[in-house]
Amino acid sequence: MKDEKCIFCKIANGEIPSKTLYEDDRFRVILDLGPATRGHALILPKEHYADLYELPEETAAELMKVAKKMAARMRERLGCAGLNLVQNNGDLAGQTVFHFHMHMIPRYQGDGQKIGWKPGGPTEEELEEIRREIAD
Ligand code: AMP
Ligand code: ZN
Repeated sequence: MKDEKCIFCKIANGEIPSKTLYEDDRFRVILDLGPATRGHALILPKEHYADLYELPEETAAELMKVAKKMAARMRERLGCAGLNLVQNNGDLAGQTVFHFHMHMIPRYQGDGQKIGWKPGGPTEEELEEIRREIAD
């Protein structure tokens, strides 16, 4: 399924040009136009899924294979010291383009980026309450 109004559908399917790093019949990997670091890339499924909730399990599994392939290539070719995989779902979580995409952000010594969160300090009781809410 494609969404006529979705820019990532058009990029993923080659209707809008992009700096493509990799392509197969299901995915296109492109350079992000507003990169956090050198080589910041996005893995786009060619089908339209708004976010992780919509992404079929099988597509998710295939996408992680592409991520692994690209991670190895980035380390080898760019000489990055590490890599962040980031994937935002929902505007509150920072999603701005509502076509599923996985960020691949190569990391370098002194790159000045900080991808993280402020750690909380829950009590054991709070952790247990949350565990019971989520676990089966
Ligand atoms: P997110 O905030 O997770 O939805 O990420 C959207 C990302 O897409 C941002 O990092 C943007 O820089 C990037 N982006 C938006 N439009 C384009 C485009 N036309 N080509 C490449 N990257 C884009
Ligand atoms: Zn789309």
